[in-house]
Amino acid sequence: MRIEQDLKLGFKDVLFRPKRSTLKSRSQVELTREFTFKHSGRQWSGVPVIAANMDSVGSFAMAASLAKHGCMTAVHKHYTVQDWSDFVATADTQTLNNVMVSTGTSDADFQKTQDIMALSDELIFICIDIANGYSEHLVEYVQRVRAQFPDKVISAGNVVTGDMVEELILAGADIVKVGIGPGSVCTTRVKTGVGYPQLSAIIECADAAHGLGGQIIGDGGCACAGDVAKAFGGGADFVMLGGMLAGHEESGGEIIEQDGKQFMKFYGMSSQSAMDKHSGGVAKYRAAEGKTVLLPFRGSVEYTIADILGGVRSTCTYVGAAKLKELTKRTTFIRVQEQENNVYGKE
Ligand code: 5GP
Repeated sequence: MRIEQDLKLGFKDVLFRPKRSTLKSRSQVELTREFTFKHSGRQWSGVPVIAANMDSVGSFAMAASLAKHGCMTAVHKHYTVQDWSDFVATADTQTLNNVMVSTGTSDADFQKTQDIMALSDELIFICIDIANGYSEHLVEYVQRVRAQFPDKVISAGNVVTGDMVEELILAGADIVKVGIGPGSVCTTRVKTGVGYPQLSAIIECADAAHGLGGQIIGDGGCACAGDVAKAFGGGADFVMLGGMLAGHEESGGEIIEQDGKQFMKFYGMSSQSAMDKHSGGVAKYRAAEGKTVLLPFRGSVEYTIADILGGVRSTCTYVGAAKLKELTKRTTFIRVQEQENNVYGKE
């Protein structure tokens, strides 16, 4: 047994130190980023915020809505090939270019990914997603998908340490998804005791990925726009959001009425609810590692996404970053023991 003594940080442990800036207005801040991906050589330009591949977040409707803001959606893996076919008939190029096709790592998943990718050349992102990205099986699967799709952008995860980021990039991933345990409806840390504070995971994994010419997605744990900015400040190239985008018209969750008020069901993809819906219940050998919650229904996602992007723009003006790309270079985090003033309740 070993104990690492370095303190690891989450979003709530830091704030940005403001810096002198020549920017007059947040409207001068450019959130669009351009990437050229390591293996596929693909270029992509957009706002690197991604709706999570959860079945009450990453829907086709979410993809169409977020694409209008230049943002991405990792569409969940529970749509059928026919559902995808119907979507690709209706969706515009901007939407298709900003969609990730999510997949697990079974042979059936591999075949389904092939069938979906064959529907349109405009689908360019594949998101290989398993809860424990430390499995050798994931590395082999990434190699297999890379061999089959040399010119598609492949994201793989989830992991939280630099060694595994490097292994996945060397196996063929362009992007590595980072986060174990920080999610709003995740109970992995409670059920298993495993995890890594998300800001430190992002800082360490971004360093490893950038050293090899890869990118990372900071996935999970953002509860407000300030956290999204901190994820970018820590070095995340992309930030993935579940809970912040759940509970909206476009999220695709079940609406429930209670006492005349509308709520939307939101649950982890390893929760009892998800396993009951997609796998015929929780298998005997495992525990559910996700929660089910009811969120007050929030209407369209349009206002929420504008609010998040507005917050990140504002962060950039406070530290003097004219472009999102410059945010991490302009970032000095200060460690803190307080965040917002809650005397009149939470924002
Ligand atoms: P959020 O933005 O809600 O804090 O986090 C979203 C992320 O939580 C997802 O992208 C995914 O990585 C993770 N997640 C989703 N469902 C579950 C679950 O049931 N269990 C765990 N451990 N993580 C989950």
